[in-house]
Amino acid sequence: MMYSLVAEAYEKIEGTTKRLEMTDYLVDLLKKTPPDLIDKVVYLTQGKLYPDYMGVEIGIAEKLAIRAVSKATGRSEKEISSDLEVTGDLGETTQKFLEKRLQASLFRRPLTVQTVYRTLDKIAKTTGSGSMDYKINLLAGLLVDATPKEAKYIIRTVTGKLRLGIADMTVLDALAIAYGGGKEARDVLERAYNISSDLGKVAKVLVTSGVEEIKRFKVSVGNPIRPMLAERLSSPQEILEKLGGKCIAEYKYDGERMQAHKDGNKVMLFSRRLENITSQYPDAVQLIRENVKAKTAIVEAECVAVDPDTGEMRPFQELMHRRRKHEIAEAIVEYPISLFVFDVLYVDGRDLTLEPYLNRHKVLEEIIEEGDRVKIATYIITDDSEKLERFFEEAIENGCEGLVCKSVSEDSVYQAGARGWLWIKYKRDYKSEMTDTVDLVVVGAFYGRGKRAGTYGALLLAAYNKREDTFETVCKIGSGFTDEDLKKIPELLEPHRIPHRHPRVKSTLEADVWFTPRIVIEVIGAEITLSPVHTCAMGIMRKGSGLAIRFPRFTGNYRLDKAAEDATTVDEIIEMYKSQLKRV
Ligand code: AMP
Repeated sequence: MMYSLVAEAYEKIEGTTKRLEMTDYLVDLLKKTPPDLIDKVVYLTQGKLYPDYMGVEIGIAEKLAIRAVSKATGRSEKEISSDLEVTGDLGETTQKFLEKRLQASLFRRPLTVQTVYRTLDKIAKTTGSGSMDYKINLLAGLLVDATPKEAKYIIRTVTGKLRLGIADMTVLDALAIAYGGGKEARDVLERAYNISSDLGKVAKVLVTSGVEEIKRFKVSVGNPIRPMLAERLSSPQEILEKLGGKCIAEYKYDGERMQAHKDGNKVMLFSRRLENITSQYPDAVQLIRENVKAKTAIVEAECVAVDPDTGEMRPFQELMHRRRKHEIAEAIVEYPISLFVFDVLYVDGRDLTLEPYLNRHKVLEEIIEEGDRVKIATYIITDDSEKLERFFEEAIENGCEGLVCKSVSEDSVYQAGARGWLWIKYKRDYKSEMTDTVDLVVVGAFYGRGKRAGTYGALLLAAYNKREDTFETVCKIGSGFTDEDLKKIPELLEPHRIPHRHPRVKSTLEADVWFTPRIVIEVIGAEITLSPVHTCAMGIMRKGSGLAIRFPRFTGNYRLDKAAEDATTVDEIIEMYKSQLKRV
């Protein structure tokens, strides 16, 4: 197939703003394409060589492309650059300079799609020293053989600026018309695309085996599935109503979405945008390998940064340190992660995407072996909006963004690639950022595990209620303690240890150890939030809820100069909550 056919189609497509016309031109092009090239032509029209998830980018910087154009046209790089300043498009500049070199076309070998594709593929895959010159030569070679029009599109393709404006959905429309027997085939084609994320593969199967084979398209390990997305509502009542009165509500973890594909010992991880992120997360790979008890499986999880000492979740920003290509071994230790698994799409030959959510969840419980660092997303099944609200507050306090409420109906399939009402997220409209430190009283403690076995893992802290002369809990704190602190704190607290909760302490939590309120420490947190657990200001901001400090951290300051009654008061916490409340 001649590349000129492709270039002509591009020119027509570019010349229209009407989607229907664009589709017609694409249908024409696809019909002219032989079966063995259909996938390649589909990728090329989107400025790619492979489906996105393979991560192969042609990516030639404009500067290098200018050098290739200079070689192919005999013009100086300076001349080309100054024309580029006028046109703003290196493709157009190239076309212009090639038009002025008519004599060269005598020696042209007309370009085929195969040659263009093969050469671009080489350009994309060559790495290492000296590769730049090699790439420039390959590109210059193509330009020498290209017509001016072809050169324009080749240059735009290699510099990532093809931008014909052909959306995935337009390609599907065109495929349905060209080879599917009409628009009716559109839905099956779309599903095939949504579960494979590979338009080229869909095109190839359609052209070589027909629509029937497309209907039999199955999820397969290694091919990422386009993720299902959630709609949003802002009250539990609305959510329950929309979901038919009952739902499964899960913590909405604040991390990075991962679609994990396991095939024996081999594990691949894809991001929400379907980039292959396996090499960034060797620890997640290991967790999937060990904790997914199926030979082959595709599961979805949220990857969250955790405090290495306490296992508590850390804010999303900390996970961003893991977005790096180098020194990954160090990052694993410095910014450890946990996985919270929330769906399963495939297990040992069984495509689960069309099964209702509760069935998938049951399979999930069968195949996930929970451990310290791999858990199934915390959930409740409820028809009660009050319970949903409490669960939401609990999720926020524990470091989550809110809830994802999911349909439990029989038709709650996994809607690959779609944002729909089967999943509804519930996030906050307001939050109250904490800018000042507070001084809080230690009223209880919890035994530590792992690295903190034998000492306290977390302390229970309270604010002072002046009016009632009581101490109301406001957070559990495990972060910010040095090894020295961990030794010193039990010694400091020992004289105040008592066998039961102190009568002046109000707490719904059962601590392992209780203390007479005496020791005051300084704490900073990220926010003050409503809490179904803590008793500070209970019922004042909202019926049945108190206030809590989210992501609390010890500043290192022991306030031994302060008596328990000198600690930050409940009224001060309420003031902080109110004055810092902002819309998000
Ligand atoms: P958003 O990005 O705000 O549209 O929210 C959807 C995202 O929430 C998903 O893409 C996941 O990354 C994330 N998420 C966290 N926990 C869950 C959960 N339990 N179920 C589904 N998605 C979740």
